[in-house]
Amino acid sequence: MRRVAIIGAGQAGLQLALGLRSAGYEVTVVSERTAEEVRGGGVMSTQLMFGPALALERAAGLNLWDDLAPVMRGFEMTQWDPAAEAPRSRFTASFDEEVRSVDQRLKLAAWLELFEARGGRVEYRSAGADELAGIAGRHDLTVVATGRGALSSLFGRDAERSAYDRPQRTLACFYASGVEGRGAASDAYARVTGVPPAGDAIVMRALTVGGRCDILLIEGKFGGPYDCWGDRPAPEEGLRRAVELLRVYAPWEYERFAKAEPTDAGAALYGAITPTVRHGVAELGDGQCVLGMADAVVVNDPITGQGANNAARAAASYLDAIVRRGDLSFDGPWMRRTFAEYWKSAQHVHAFTDLMLRQPPADHVVRLLEAAFEHPAAAHRFTNGYADPLDYRDWLMDPAGAERYLAEIARAD
Ligand SMILES: Cc1cc2nc3c(=O)[nH]c(=O)nc-3n(C[C@H](O)[C@H](O)[C@H](O)COP(=O)(O)OP(=O)(O)OC[C@H]3O[C@@H](n4cnc5c(N)ncnc54)[C@H](O)[C@@H]3O)c2cc1C
Repeated sequence: MRRVAIIGAGQAGLQLALGLRSAGYEVTVVSERTAEEVRGGGVMSTQLMFGPALALERAAGLNLWDDLAPVMRGFEMTQWDPAAEAPRSRFTASFDEEVRSVDQRLKLAAWLELFEARGGRVEYRSAGADELAGIAGRHDLTVVATGRGALSSLFGRDAERSAYDRPQRTLACFYASGVEGRGAASDAYARVTGVPPAGDAIVMRALTVGGRCDILLIEGKFGGPYDCWGDRPAPEEGLRRAVELLRVYAPWEYERFAKAEPTDAGAALYGAITPTVRHGVAELGDGQCVLGMADAVVVNDPITGQGANNAARAAASYLDAIVRRGDLSFDGPWMRRTFAEYWKSAQHVHAFTDLMLRQPPADHVVRLLEAAFEHPAAAHRFTNGYADPLDYRDWLMDPAGAERYLAEIARAD
């Protein structure tokens, strides 16, 4: 039986580990934390998952929360003008496929337990860089899926593919209970409110450890009013501060969140992410290589909610490559081809996310969003591109394509 080691028990690592167990591989996962520690720890993400990624989980039998996790049926985008105290523009559009968020504490803890129940082996510790050669020597293949953990530095930064060398946004995320609806269909949608000097307030529904909740993610511009989390407040104080910001910068969200409370002691997360693409393979010497996966080698700012979707795609793509390899060696060239195959989809996600971070926004992006505020067809296309950003390639990502699309919309009027 072929032996595979996976370092890191996140979305990518556990999805791949469970897939390999189902395919009859002997799999060892190195996990920093036990399932209980994950479940009782702090939130890690907002983990909005779109149709294609959910379909991958479902195909692998990992969709354990379909009866419980709320489905967000649409998307609302608002641009708010604080000076005018009115929305500058707003659109809503429906998602063509289901969109859900299951707290990674719940999901990853359950997947870790499932992996062990299915005969997977887990070593509970934080793997050091100095251990990797030993692990690689004992296994036919070693995959590093440690997210933004320190081991990612083994994989050299790919300067050509990395547009930024520092974070573009500050992040603050709160899981809240007691959020009230305004009696609008969009109460159940994923919603973004953008304010030029501040950044974006993003709201979604989710299933967390204690049941359903709402999540508020604040993507702040550096130096702006949303950039105020340096003291890393406890969840109560952090959420109180965030709700006061909503009062000024997203008053309709303030109405919903005015009585909100943190869901639990781990309900707040703060940080900032440098979007980075790394080389997919690290050489350890003596011809030994390890293969990087998902955030360990391609990390995005969460403004577009893509990282966990990317991780699901990476796990599915690597599983397919490993199984197709049969009994042949998982050597360096095979690893490079495996990463290159994954990059075919990841590149569109990364380019889309980088584009949405750009300040000032590209002229054609501004014009396309203005078109989306006026034309339901453009709003619908923009909304559903999140599920697979490949669709953006020929219009949002390409100024000439944008012109063609704008002309097409104008003709349809
Ligand atoms: C605030 C925020 C909001 C987000 N919102 C979304 C969203 O809405 N939608 C979306 O798709 N993505 C979102 N993301 C991104 C998404 O959470 C990640 O991209 C995704 O979880 C990456 O999966 P992964 O398996 O690569 O890494 P991770 O999920 O980070 O898992 C890596 C695991 O490896 C472990 N580890 C690290 N180092 C070691 C070590 N040395 N030894 C052993 N274990 C180790 C870690 O503890 C962790 O368990 C968000 C991220 C943030 C920060």
